[in-house]
Amino acid sequence: MTQGDAGDPRTRLLADNLAATRDRIRRAATASGRDPESVTLIVVTKTYPADDVRRLVDLGVREFGENRVQEAAAKSDDGAFAGACLHLIGQLQTNKAAQAVRYADAIHTLDRAKLVAPLARASAATDRHPAILIQVSLDGDPARGGAPVADVPALVESALAAGLALRGVMAVPPRGTDPARAFADLARIRERVLTQAPAATMMSAGMSADLEAAVAAGATHLRVGSAILGSRVRVG
Ligand SMILES: *Cc1c(COP(=O)(O)O)cnc(C)c1O
Repeated sequence: MTQGDAGDPRTRLLADNLAATRDRIRRAATASGRDPESVTLIVVTKTYPADDVRRLVDLGVREFGENRVQEAAAKSDDGAFAGACLHLIGQLQTNKAAQAVRYADAIHTLDRAKLVAPLARASAATDRHPAILIQVSLDGDPARGGAPVADVPALVESALAAGLALRGVMAVPPRGTDPARAFADLARIRERVLTQAPAATMMSAGMSADLEAAVAAGATHLRVGSAILGSRVRVG
């Protein structure tokens, strides 16, 4: 393989896109008086092959996001994420909780009480304690995952009671809404969660199209795919 080779055109393209994205983050942080170092870029490699993950690792990326547990597990078994952190950012089925705990360093999509016990059981069985984030549905539409805002306090209590490592909140802006407003809502929800769970400092928000608005609202973790890897073929 030539993926570590700077002459490889795909590696060059990823390097350029990564530099442009880091530049956007730096400018957005500076514009809102934030330290660019306080914002973590998670590169979302869903649908892209393990070789792209390896190219990105060679380019210094240490935080990766994947949607599907099975796809993440396959790339992980292939050694692609060695030395890097794997964030699971897709809707999680109860029967995939154990596999998620086995592979992930962070799970951004705790969105219902039913997931708490399977995650806790898997953590106890494997002694692995991934960072858990509560995904919030800002418009209450269950289609894209996320707990309704009103359910968040009870979900926080239940996660804490089960001993999960609750570390923050995550959201995807509802379709057709102003992302800046959605991220401001999420920032307020994080403030409330912090009163229950002081370690829940992470705010996972912002994608290729709206990362500036997320940084301005206080996001600590951005999930960026297409701006770095290219447009995905739609798989649903
Ligand atoms: C795919 C995905 C992303 C990345 O989106 P881009 O628009 O490609 O940057 C971020 N978050 C979630 C939850 C995703 O499913």
